[in-house]
Amino acid sequence: MGQTHMIDFESMISGRSRAIDVSGIRRVFELGAKLEDPINFSIGQPDFPVAEPLKQAAIDAIRNDQNGYTLTQGAPNLRNAIISYLHEDVGWKVDGATLDVIVSSGTSGALLLASMTLLNPGDEFIAGDPYFVAYPAMATMVGATFVPCLTYPDFRLTAKRVEPLLTSRTKFLLVNSPGNPTGTVLSNGELSDLVDLCRAHGVLIISDEIYDEFTYADAREDGKCPSPARFTEDMLLVRGFGKTYGCTGWRMGYVAGPKTIIRELAKLQQYTFVCAPSMAQQGLAGVFEVDMSEHVEAYRRKRNMVVEAFDGISTTVMPGGAFYTFVEVPPSLGLTATQFVERGIERNVLTIPGCVFSRRDTHFRISYAVSDEKLKAGLEILTGLMAGVETSV
Ligand code: PMP
Repeated sequence: MGQTHMIDFESMISGRSRAIDVSGIRRVFELGAKLEDPINFSIGQPDFPVAEPLKQAAIDAIRNDQNGYTLTQGAPNLRNAIISYLHEDVGWKVDGATLDVIVSSGTSGALLLASMTLLNPGDEFIAGDPYFVAYPAMATMVGATFVPCLTYPDFRLTAKRVEPLLTSRTKFLLVNSPGNPTGTVLSNGELSDLVDLCRAHGVLIISDEIYDEFTYADAREDGKCPSPARFTEDMLLVRGFGKTYGCTGWRMGYVAGPKTIIRELAKLQQYTFVCAPSMAQQGLAGVFEVDMSEHVEAYRRKRNMVVEAFDGISTTVMPGGAFYTFVEVPPSLGLTATQFVERGIERNVLTIPGCVFSRRDTHFRISYAVSDEKLKAGLEILTGLMAGVETSV
């Protein structure tokens, strides 16, 4: 109505919200939005559709009027499926006595509830740098401090790198393997060292394993994704369904761990998210029957295409999982990652500069969850840029 506001809304924004900076990623998206049909390597989600039985189960749930609130901790059939799966996968006996599990609104929901439950203002948590974008914001939202542990150039979060960062204020170590943005998969040996270190210092481990299914055969151990959960139950195991089954918009995840902590997460869920989406919970109740190996194999091949393309041109660490590679901008180019990404955008290829995920701006993230044709075309342009070859778009 063109009415002039009488309140200065800008001044109403909390310090907490002001302190969260999204300028890096926003700039990429703004530049990308101007492109017509970009080769988009910036999207952090799989490119395959949700499996038919899962779609059908969600549709059936809606049709059968299962559209109301569920129990705060999750619909019993889904919770039971998760409990069986955890027993089979990591050997945990989640019986509600010492260990418990809660279904959350996405992995993000689980991580936010965990932060609210565990962190007092002034507390610290450590995570590897490069890190998932939301981790520092999680700290800011609760007045805590995010402590990045630099893992360049091999992106391995080792006990040796973490130890000097531990203080009396460290509440937890947030491990993300397979990792975003690097695709790094830590070995069981490395994870067991982290477990020992944290145990010795009374620090909790939170393991964000949202990409667990996308652990390639070469990074698996005994056919499974390495996890600290194989060595301890004194931790929070956070997993999600969105990436694995291509349903990021369904907003589904879960967190398992000591009952004392899960009970608090449930209390906070009751007053925030209330419950995870009801139809999505029913859609996923049979999820562990769905075989994703074909998709995982397709991504393994794409990973190889990416690493081979940059071989001899730039430094890439062979990722063991997820669907990302974190590629170094050759120092000889004299460009920051942001500048390099901008050049890519000028040639219609969208990637994300390292500064979005790191205190450094030397690498960029490629999400290779795209068709082989797009991947080939985009890689040609990016490698051409690195070699100083002009490629027509
Ligand atoms: N953790 C990591 C490491 C991620 O990459 C993402 C999504 N990009 C999330 C958590 C959040 O996932 P969700 O959509 O389940 O909230």
